[in-house]
Amino acid sequence: MSGSWTDGILLKVLNVVLYWLFLGSNIYTYASGTTYYGGKETYITPAPWAFLIWSLIHLLLLGTIIYQFTAAGKGVIIDGISWRFPLLVLLNSIYVNVWIKGHYIVAFVFSLFVSSAVTHVYYSVKKYHLAESIADELFVHLPFSLYHGWTTVLVIITAFQAFGVNAATTHAGIWTKVFVFLALFFLEGTAATYAFSTPEGDLPASIAIAWSLFAIFAQQTGSGFVHWSSLVFAILALVWVSKGVYGLFIRSRGGVRLHDEELSREIMGAFYRRLYPFKSIFHWLNHEPTPSDLFLKREIAYNLPDDVVVRYNSFNDCDEFKKQVCKVVPTRFEIGPVYTSRPRDRKTARKGAFNPTRRELVFDIDMTDYDPIRTCCSDADICKRCWSFISAAVRVLDTSIRDQFGYEHLLWVYSGRRGIHLWISDPEAMDLTDEQRKAIVNWLTIIPKDESKRLNVRFGSRGLPASLQPSLEQLAMLFSDLILCDQDCFGTETGYEALLKLIPDSRVVESLRNQWESSNSSSEDKWKEFKTEIKHYPKGSSQRAALTAAMEDIILQYTYPRLDENVSKKRNHLLKAPFCIHPKTGRVCVPVDPKKIDEFDPMEVPTVHQLLAELDTVAENSEHHSGENHFLSVCLRYDYLNRVDWERTSLKPYVDWLDKHNERIMGEVRKEKRSPGSFAFYTGLASGLVSSDMSW
Ligand SMILES: [Zn+2]
Repeated sequence: MSGSWTDGILLKVLNVVLYWLFLGSNIYTYASGTTYYGGKETYITPAPWAFLIWSLIHLLLLGTIIYQFTAAGKGVIIDGISWRFPLLVLLNSIYVNVWIKGHYIVAFVFSLFVSSAVTHVYYSVKKYHLAESIADELFVHLPFSLYHGWTTVLVIITAFQAFGVNAATTHAGIWTKVFVFLALFFLEGTAATYAFSTPEGDLPASIAIAWSLFAIFAQQTGSGFVHWSSLVFAILALVWVSKGVYGLFIRSRGGVRLHDEELSREIMGAFYRRLYPFKSIFHWLNHEPTPSDLFLKREIAYNLPDDVVVRYNSFNDCDEFKKQVCKVVPTRFEIGPVYTSRPRDRKTARKGAFNPTRRELVFDIDMTDYDPIRTCCSDADICKRCWSFISAAVRVLDTSIRDQFGYEHLLWVYSGRRGIHLWISDPEAMDLTDEQRKAIVNWLTIIPKDESKRLNVRFGSRGLPASLQPSLEQLAMLFSDLILCDQDCFGTETGYEALLKLIPDSRVVESLRNQWESSNSSSEDKWKEFKTEIKHYPKGSSQRAALTAAMEDIILQYTYPRLDENVSKKRNHLLKAPFCIHPKTGRVCVPVDPKKIDEFDPMEVPTVHQLLAELDTVAENSEHHSGENHFLSVCLRYDYLNRVDWERTSLKPYVDWLDKHNERIMGEVRKEKRSPGSFAFYTGLASGLVSSDMSW
């Protein structure tokens, strides 16, 4: 039921129709003999071959139009770019039509519209949709990059046609020359901006601009000044293009090929050295400022390329932790339990004497467990809409764990792609045995593995257990918003058949099936019809009670948190450390405030590339300020390269959040140590007495 090609069909059809309109408006210009290059000639008009870029863009966009019918393409084009695509194509068609007719001022206005529409698409694609396949690269990233670069050129050309002199009849005066020079400078500057956007630059966009600059050079033979200055700028633009090519080459050699599983060693090395908040992680694991057993006997496992895992590392302090990670440069590292002795010395421990003792109670919620019910995406894909399942799970679980188990130190961490982890650091939770953990998970797991089975939370048709009652009220609201309206889970036949399987009354099932087979009603209507069927039975009847119970169960089944049980049951299960990088998305696994989980957008979580780029900007600015003194600027740069720099990036709020969380844990440990009756208090006092004795 998920990923059908008819999902979002309205927008898909609109895209197809407008694409042909767009293509038609362009082909028309050729057919009518006016071609692109038939209009008013100005001192910046490029050679006709510059406009061949259109054909390339059209061809790639044809791919986009076809790609939208696949599940992966739909995720980016329909859910991501959405209405911006038809809007862009429509504006572009208007622009071309007005332009052919020679209404250059109106055309100029529309070229600005086109440019801002394409910018909108371009940035949403760049920022939110990391290319995960060749198709993504070819039919989403490439066409819009080219298009973006090319529309910048079009705006300039049209501006000269609207406001500049006619080159066929008028000589280039001084002002024309000034404006041409400024325009060329602007284009070349834009190419440079593209080149520096990432290490490999935005190659297609800078190529589009360099191409156009050469076409201007080729065409503008009338004025020597325009001719030669356009050559200079074209060559400069070519330099930026080669910078991009070089970056791409380095990237493909250095391990980060476009679709590589792991990020390059250099990038990860810089990330650990400059950004990873080791101190905060140390405090979080250790509960105290100085290393305790919680840290000294804690296992850290490195994940290296090719699925190699190096287990049983442990460290003496935070500095060694950082030094080792920076030396090994794992793609990510995972946190294990605290053992009876230091993991790295485990070989010297007596046989059978090396065992896990304590560990945070952890939970893992993953989007894949929602695949049977979500309709917007499938597999690895995720969008803002299906994230609602995760945010609902967080709200329910956060409340029920605090209320039912009394735990307070809950840290929610986004997994970097399509899930979320929960780490509970309360001492009582740390001490739980494997059996106790298993019992807690079983208590919290109510969704059966087999979706067609009804959940088993009550005896017969009796009321829900009191522990579930508060959740149910919260979930009923969510059910209506998310399942009925947004996801429209019962819209298709597979969808409503799944629902019918959960209704325990064959008469009702038959009646509903008859109604639904012949109609195309929405999930909301279907749910209303189900309720009406229940009301056919008199109040107090056993049938009505059974159906009401089934209705509650269905709400729970579709909305209750789905846990990955295996993660929680055993203390020695490894779980990815917060602030590591997800190897496929490049996103940081950041802690999340459960109270603001509804506002959390996984697509806005910073990526490692973005954070390193932010650092570069900071460093460059510092160079500008100390421009006169080269030595000072080198020192400053050195300083920037060698400090922990997360404070200067968008990682800061997330680290601050963890630090606040740590303060609460550490505050409690301090209080515990000071309180009379605590063992630590007496040993501390005793050592104090001894030392004061010594000082006498
Ligand atoms: Zn989705």
